[in-house]
Amino acid sequence: MTVPFSGGCQCGAVRYEVSAEPLAVFLCHCRACQYESAGGPSVVVMVPEPAFKMTGTPKGHTVIADSGTPTTRCFCGECGTPLFGKPSGDFPFVMLRAGSMDDASWLKPHSTIWVSSAQPWAAISDDIPRFEGNPVM
Ligand SMILES: [Zn+2]
Ligand SMILES: [Zn+2]
Repeated sequence: MTVPFSGGCQCGAVRYEVSAEPLAVFLCHCRACQYESAGGPSVVVMVPEPAFKMTGTPKGHTVIADSGTPTTRCFCGECGTPLFGKPSGDFPFVMLRAGSMDDASWLKPHSTIWVSSAQPWAAISDDIPRFEGNPVM
């Protein structure tokens, strides 16, 4: 575990630092994540919003997630790197994309979610719990 940890997009226009440990790490196979990940799961790192500090301004695109909740998926407008998602409403968390972290090697994904939307060829680990949809917290 490396706190604080930092990340950003591939071109450097957007940077962030997180001063808290992740609350959860999911492998998400929902359809919206497949657009970001190029087909496999997104690795989603849930952090408390007050611990998230960002420089630069990502672009956002709002989609209706498989859960039915509108979610704004934020990415760099220059290089297209997926950065984080932000569900609508009073949701004090940022759902970071692990690919944007400077070092994501220490993450330990604890569950696989939205298995019901996964592609038939997606490799899904038997080592961690899996959920058909959103995890039961
Ligand atoms: Zn960029
Ligand atoms: Zn997803």
